[in-house]
Amino acid sequence: MERAFRVDAVPAPELVARVRAAREAGRVPDVLIGGDLVGDGPLDALDAVEVAPGDLEQLLPTASGRERLPRWVVAKGSFGPSFVRTQALMRTQVLNTVCEEASCPNIQRCWSRGTATFMIAGANCTRGCRFCDVATARPVGPPDAEEPHRVAQAAAEMGLRFVVVTAVARDDLPDGGAAHFAATIRALRERLPESRVEVLIPDFRGNWDALDQVVEARPDVLNHNTETVPRLYRKVRPGARYERTLELLERSRAAGLPTKSGIMVGLGERLSEVTQVLADLAASGCELVTVGQYLSPSPRHLPVERFYAPAEYPALAALGERLGLAHVEAGPLVRSSFEADRVAGSLPVTA
Ligand code: SF4
Repeated sequence: MERAFRVDAVPAPELVARVRAAREAGRVPDVLIGGDLVGDGPLDALDAVEVAPGDLEQLLPTASGRERLPRWVVAKGSFGPSFVRTQALMRTQVLNTVCEEASCPNIQRCWSRGTATFMIAGANCTRGCRFCDVATARPVGPPDAEEPHRVAQAAAEMGLRFVVVTAVARDDLPDGGAAHFAATIRALRERLPESRVEVLIPDFRGNWDALDQVVEARPDVLNHNTETVPRLYRKVRPGARYERTLELLERSRAAGLPTKSGIMVGLGERLSEVTQVLADLAASGCELVTVGQYLSPSPRHLPVERFYAPAEYPALAALGERLGLAHVEAGPLVRSSFEADRVAGSLPVTA
């Protein structure tokens, strides 16, 4: 089945012409307007979601032909006192966050809530994924051995009950930075024994001994992103392998850790491909999955192929949960660490 929109509107010739042009440009899938199909169908191969006429309008070029950013991907938030406090703390503790380095659209919202995602092992990544805004360069030297303690200190000052830690890929290190992850988990456990820790890890190039070091430090949630469908891996994340990602999740789950993954949509994937990824993740034992709209950080990065309509996210969440995932957090601005404390609350309770 492929995605289609069902829109409750009169199929006026001017609207149909605009939808047809947007569909030909790949900006919308097949659209059923008041029962008339704009697209190739066939109808019995389409999975239609009900899209509000106002939302469809946001996905069509303006009357002057200009593309626009749909209102639901424009983040809201403020630079309030909590934001300023979080920023000052990161500077005084000399820490990086993925919130800043990856230009996350939720930064005002999350930092104003007093949460952030620490990014350890430097600010330069050895990979050059085409969607990511973190700088690519060869990092200089080993990770800073004091950094785990500064992360723990900052988390304590922020009063975090749920701490999320990620890192740049460190393919220059034999263990890919796994020991540094483990040291950070241990420092957090020591400083904040009541808090839970989620780690969002790279694939360590399939070095399973490295993964074991992280697993043995027993994070409360082990997150590793799938990012996109296998057909697009070479274009989107050339240094990664889809099967490796699934194996990493499978191994972590087999070791008894709750596991989580995430994908971006809007990179040119088909619904059937997303369905297969969600099914593969469920089969790997993965329990939590995040799904969010890809937003291109700059003209140097991959362009957005299509903005999803708001109604598509609950449909994807329901699909994933039908396929066996415990919880799918889906929304235009959902990111892998988005409200991670609440998302982890959806994990099945184990005895
Ligand atoms: S969603 Fe994650 S990366 Fe983005 S601002 Fe929030 S905590 Fe940071």
